[in-house]
Amino acid sequence: MPPTGREQLKGRVQELIDSNLVMVFSKSFCPFCIRVKELFTSLGREYNALELDECDDGSDIQEVLHELTGQKTVPNVFVNKTHVGGCDKTLQAHKDGTLGKLFDENHIKYDYDLIIIGGGSGGLACSKEAAAMGKKVMVLDYVVPTPLGTSWGLGGTCVNVGCIPKKLMHQAAILGHALKDSRKFGWEYEENVRHNWDTMRDAIQSYIGSLNWGYRVALRDKSVRYENAYGEFVEQHKIKATNKKGKEAFYTAEKFVVATGERPRYLGIPGDKEYCITSDDLFSLPYCPGKTLVVGASYVALECAGFLAGIGLDVTVMVRSIFLRGFDQEMANRAGDYMETHGVKFIKQFVPTSVELLEEGTPGKLKVVAKSTEGDHIIEDEYNTVLIAVGRDACTRNIGLEKIGVKINEKNGKVPVNDVEETNVPYVYAIGDILDGKLELTPVAIQAGRLLARRLYGGSTLKCDYVNVPTTVFTPLEYGCCGYAEEKAIELYGQENLEVYHTLFWPLEFTVASRDNNTCFAKIICNKLDNDRVIGFHVLGPNAGEITQGFGAAMKCGLTKEKLDETIGIHPTCAEVSNLKKCTESISLCSFLWFTL
Ligand code: FAD
Ligand code: NAP
Repeated sequence: MPPTGREQLKGRVQELIDSNLVMVFSKSFCPFCIRVKELFTSLGREYNALELDECDDGSDIQEVLHELTGQKTVPNVFVNKTHVGGCDKTLQAHKDGTLGKLFDENHIKYDYDLIIIGGGSGGLACSKEAAAMGKKVMVLDYVVPTPLGTSWGLGGTCVNVGCIPKKLMHQAAILGHALKDSRKFGWEYEENVRHNWDTMRDAIQSYIGSLNWGYRVALRDKSVRYENAYGEFVEQHKIKATNKKGKEAFYTAEKFVVATGERPRYLGIPGDKEYCITSDDLFSLPYCPGKTLVVGASYVALECAGFLAGIGLDVTVMVRSIFLRGFDQEMANRAGDYMETHGVKFIKQFVPTSVELLEEGTPGKLKVVAKSTEGDHIIEDEYNTVLIAVGRDACTRNIGLEKIGVKINEKNGKVPVNDVEETNVPYVYAIGDILDGKLELTPVAIQAGRLLARRLYGGSTLKCDYVNVPTTVFTPLEYGCCGYAEEKAIELYGQENLEVYHTLFWPLEFTVASRDNNTCFAKIICNKLDNDRVIGFHVLGPNAGEITQGFGAAMKCGLTKEKLDETIGIHPTCAEVSNLKKCTESISLCSFLWFTL
């Protein structure tokens, strides 16, 4: 028979008592509860306080506690699974030394204060911060090889198969463009310019190798134990770590942080896992990919398509619906248009249905069959490489979360947490890409990890702020943004309450090279109901990432249109956005060229 609601609640209360060295059932406004919490703080003892007045089922929990302890009131204090009592009894126990004995004699001996599963952006940041505060910390990091066998070192997605190699390959493409421009600036050279994939890959991989090494050294210096092993929960407070050779070891900890990140999703069509690659394979590909089909139209797809085309490859992107879902669509389409005018081909409203090997080789030859999303139309073509970039799945389904009762969102595998990154199991926290409804960005994972450690061990109360996080898509013409897309702002505030300002601009660097007039674009969205506060900032142009960072800081400080207008620009730069015009008509009528003065 399934447990009743009451039995479940009892189980939850018991779990809180069992898993916390000090558990205080409290009410936030109660002065006796505050005294007891202050006592534990003054003793340097961490405690977990459940504020019953802030829980929906607070009064039911109080009844369960009454049943368990015979005590109706709060605070209701447990130390090391032993019921101590209310405020007076706890103070008395402190005075006569029995409280201290409970700590000393029965202290649950865990192997570690904190075990972190996942040594990527979030996990490493959290581990180093916790260790710096004197905690005994262990990090487990393990890379399950891709279907084609690609694997990598310590540091997670960003360092090995994400931000770092992506930005460096983007840079390779930008240099190619600069070479073309350079003739206009007087450079004369005779050699035919060619790009060498192997040279670029080796240089980037060697840099990544140095970062992997640097992370290991940093962990060692901070006395964090690192194990190259796959971690999974086996019971409360206990994990199994399995290394490459299949050797198993078991470790316990008082607290856990799950930071296992995501891995690329496949299409589930014939031939995808056998013959296609993902971004996990691309950056260390042993051969130049040649004529490439990129499937997908978000960050990863457009960035990879952009730099592959930029180094001279024949690149086609197959788009199921729209570019960069969730981003401002005017900006996304402009970023896509720029790619199209710079040699990237797009097949829109199509999805692949099969991939067949025609010829082995490095690269080989593949036949891709695709069908229209709008009708029965079928097309086929041949490519050397098919890069699948259709999203990423959270690594949460094979790590034993169900064994300890941590809930995930069954639809997407992501972990719901409260505003202090705590899961539904009080001693298990989660950070980074696996969080439900949060941003999947390296600096976000790092910030969440650091602040979590400071809250757990440093007495801090600062929470990670997931609002107004600036980001940049490193497409050939970079797209930086912070705050709302125009569509989202309209949905939230109504068109009539918004003022949208925008401008086309021509970077000075492009003028002499006679390139890309009328392509760079900036837009800000202001909330008329709130003093014309800037609630959306968008820029499409060179170095958009560098530009957007500063505007992100300004928006955190509450930037308004008036303040923006008062800010004197740095001349001549792309960031001097003071010439933004009100958007009262269609863009083609009110756009204007942003020549330098
Ligand atoms: P990860 O960095 O993915 O780390 C998780 C680690 O846990 C991995 O090493 C994984 O192998 C390991 N692991 C998983 N399961 C287990 C287990 N059971 N036991 C032990 N170890 C395990 N973000 C940006 O901010 N800017 C960018 O320009 C950018 N570019 C990107 C480009 C690409 C191609 C991709 C794919 C992502 C990019 N991102 C970018 C996103 C960024 O990489 C992630 O947001 C970030 O790495 C998330 O950090 P994390 O700590 O959550 O996870
Ligand atoms: P994503 O944002 O989830 O986008 C998935 C893309 O694949 C969408 O274009 C989607 O199209 C398409 N798609 C999904 N299923 C498909 C199918 N069956 N057939 C064809 N197309 C399909 O995934 P992502 O690009 O992998 O990015 C993941 C996360 O990494 C992002 O959220 C981002 O935070 C992070 N990231 C950041 C950066 C950066 O900061 N510069 C760079 C890369 C990645 P629809 O629109 O039709 O659904």
